[in-house]
Amino acid sequence: MKRSMLHCRSCGAVYDADAVFRCACGEPLDLDWTESGIDEDGRDLPSRYGAFFPFEPGEWLSLGEGNTPLVPLSRLAGELGLSSLVVKNESANPTWSFKDRGTAACIAHARALGFTRVGTVSTGNMAASVAAYGAAAGLETVILVKGDLAEEKMAPIAIYGPRLIRVQGAYDGLYAESIRIGAERGIYFMNSDVPFRVAGSRTIAFEIFEQTDGCLPDWVIVPTSAGGNIRGIINGFMDLKAAGLADRIPGFICAQAAGCSPIATAFARSDEHISPFPAPHTIAHAIENPFPPSGNRVLLELRSRTWHALAATEDEIVRAQADMARSGLFGQPAAAVPLATLRQARAKGIVKEGERVALVFTGSGLKYTAAFASHRLHWEDCGLEELEERLK
Ligand SMILES: *Cc1c(COP(=O)(O)O)cnc(C)c1O
Ligand SMILES: [Zn+2]
Repeated sequence: MKRSMLHCRSCGAVYDADAVFRCACGEPLDLDWTESGIDEDGRDLPSRYGAFFPFEPGEWLSLGEGNTPLVPLSRLAGELGLSSLVVKNESANPTWSFKDRGTAACIAHARALGFTRVGTVSTGNMAASVAAYGAAAGLETVILVKGDLAEEKMAPIAIYGPRLIRVQGAYDGLYAESIRIGAERGIYFMNSDVPFRVAGSRTIAFEIFEQTDGCLPDWVIVPTSAGGNIRGIINGFMDLKAAGLADRIPGFICAQAAGCSPIATAFARSDEHISPFPAPHTIAHAIENPFPPSGNRVLLELRSRTWHALAATEDEIVRAQADMARSGLFGQPAAAVPLATLRQARAKGIVKEGERVALVFTGSGLKYTAAFASHRLHWEDCGLEELEERLK
């Protein structure tokens, strides 16, 4: 690995890009790496965007993450008065969510530093992603989940064969506790907003830039929990601009569920910092972090550029999930939250008639089949002899 730096935008501190996961001031760190440029012959993330990462060839283990489709939804675009509406379909990743991009970058970092043990703290998509990549890399993999996680959620993680531990007690403290134990025991905990996970999410911006031929959307809408993914996508566009590739950065809307909206609430109140969200509950369980570790940073990014944060109600989320499925894209509820907030943004005039919008569709609908119960789904039964009559 080439020498590179991490820096804190809150206090200005700078660190070597070693096994450092957070700034001493408590805020998250960003990767500083300037040897940027896109290799147009590269077919996978490490060969196409390798110059944006300090890794040596061979350090990045790819399961084919990224390179996901950007799908136009023309009917919905027309209905919403937009000149274009595109969906970055991250459910096309190896474990069916965008988490694979950041996991691949963290695995490369962990391997470059000589770690043989990796881990994460998660309730769902990140757990499956780290379990898959840890297994592929032949690393001992520790996955820590909430003490009450149901069997139907444990099995899709356990299938990859990690050391999977349900931890009783306050889940809030587990992020910091895992990093502390990891430092002592030599386990690289690639949690939600660690620097290289965020650096991996930049590739979503790189791909949107390439897939729109540099004609960037006016708005990118990202469903947000910890805040790592939206930070990564913002950083990606900033890096493209710094490299002289993009001439501007799109506007961003941080999309949350009203049932757990610490960032949108602080934004609406013009608070300087986020506060823990009381009694979080939403069908969009993948974005149910009541006290997101990158919350203050995201708030700062939104404020410094007149961007926005919006929160969708449960009904709006379920409707958006159905609308997207009826356009051919079935995502988990969290992945539908951007469309729900886009409707609000149009109604409020934040997104204007004729603008171009990209929605980040973060994970597959099959990740959360319990959501079927919120839809009035129907089908018919009939005997073979009646079939022709039925279809008249
Ligand atoms: C993790 C996740 C998010 C939220 O990403 P953050 O980086 O935690 O903000 C959104 N949608 C899905 C499907 C996810 O798995
Ligand atoms: Zn700091």
